[in-house]
Amino acid sequence: MTRLIFLGPPGAGKGTQAQILAEHLHIPHISTGEILRQAMKEQTPLGIKAQSYVDGGELVPDQLVQDLVAERLNQQDAKSGWILDGFPRKVTQAAFLEELLQKTGQGGERVVNLDAPDAVVIARLLDRGRKDDSEEVIRRRLEVYRNETAPLIDYYRDRQKLLTVNGDQSQAEVTVELQTVVGS
Ligand code: ADP
Repeated sequence: MTRLIFLGPPGAGKGTQAQILAEHLHIPHISTGEILRQAMKEQTPLGIKAQSYVDGGELVPDQLVQDLVAERLNQQDAKSGWILDGFPRKVTQAAFLEELLQKTGQGGERVVNLDAPDAVVIARLLDRGRKDDSEEVIRRRLEVYRNETAPLIDYYRDRQKLLTVNGDQSQAEVTVELQTVVGS
């Protein structure tokens, strides 16, 4: 049973690596960013509520992402494990997740901190060119990452759940290091 949380700055390669590993392990890759972008595309109530936050590089309110994660982890395919990518993104979300996993008997999760220097992630994001990848929004997302998300590194280290992978390598090298660290 593999339950993994992917942590790291935007542009570190979480989405790509989470997808590859999830396929390898036959477990769902749950990306809150992807779910929100899909909801915005379809203009669902969730998408409409999230839009202005995502476009500005701000975090959407906890309640919205927490509800969607609770619902997603309750689905049948998540019973055999999962990779969470983009959640939690702040300490309040981590506390929520801890309680949710405890209540639903889904413990044993580990956290992969995929790290890469600012210069590297900025270059990658500018190259990617998603709608929220303008230079100004990228700068804001990195600031939010540093202020809100980076404290989770200590949070999970204290709980002895943290694994670290160097994201500043080729995609194939990261995949190998990740599989070694996770032991799959
Ligand atoms: P990146 O990895 O480039 O930061 P994501 O696809 O993970 O991009 O997230 C894109 C956007 O979706 C974020 O900037 C934020 O607005 C919103 N988002 C995703 N996950 C969360 C979350 N857990 N809490 C709040 N907002 C979120």
